[in-house]
Amino acid sequence: MLGQQADWIMALGEWEEYWQRNDIGFHQPQVHKILKNNIDKVLNGRKGVRFFFPLCGKAVDMKWLADMGHSVVGVEISEKAIRQFFEENNMTYTEEPVPAIPGAKVYKVGELHRKNISLYQCDLYTFACSIEGQFGAIWDRGSLVAINPADREKYAALIISLMAKDCRYLLETLLYNPDLYEGPPFFVPDEQLHSLFGTSCDIELLQSLDAMTDLQRQWGLDKFTQNAHLITPKGS
Ligand code: SAH
Repeated sequence: MLGQQADWIMALGEWEEYWQRNDIGFHQPQVHKILKNNIDKVLNGRKGVRFFFPLCGKAVDMKWLADMGHSVVGVEISEKAIRQFFEENNMTYTEEPVPAIPGAKVYKVGELHRKNISLYQCDLYTFACSIEGQFGAIWDRGSLVAINPADREKYAALIISLMAKDCRYLLETLLYNPDLYEGPPFFVPDEQLHSLFGTSCDIELLQSLDAMTDLQRQWGLDKFTQNAHLITPKGS
């Protein structure tokens, strides 16, 4: 089903090298369309929601949500990405070690900004619900589609453990022919989404958009679809 992508392994150091070379074509200067279009469904009338951003990069979406009074916790391996996030958004920040995760640091927005943003610099798989509790929302863009395909079960188990009972998890997946381009971002078929999350969660397809641009044509693709899913714990 995943073709040549199934055994793809990208080491953490390679991601850090992308950041060092400034080879970060995945970063978008504007708030992501899928998040903007579906924010009401994610919030579901709630205020002051705690958002989790797995593999957060320096996504401007984090500031957008924090400006609306929500709190944001992100995880990212690249220290450069985290520092750039605060600097490019004109925010001061503090940094401190995380005793529960050897080698990790947490960067928090300075108090004068009256916002709530904490970014953990560590490998996502060392993060756990014992660190920051569970979350009311998750925005997963460039995350499930970025991890090594062989790690998807481990990833889904972690995400499920981070979901509070009322959690609303917005997920972007990408559909294309994996024989034509090796990734990342990787192809995540809907069937696999159901095997990863379907036992404990309901999965609703919110939107399916043609997202083909010159970049995907350069990759050699003929078709490129962006799917937005809303995943919620069963019985919530
Ligand atoms: N969500 C962001 C970034 C997507 S790219 C956005 O939409 O812009 C994926 C990011 O995950 C990169 O910044 C990379 O450095 C980071 N990353 C990859 N694997 C990781 C891991 N195992 N733990 C923490 N960060 C990781």
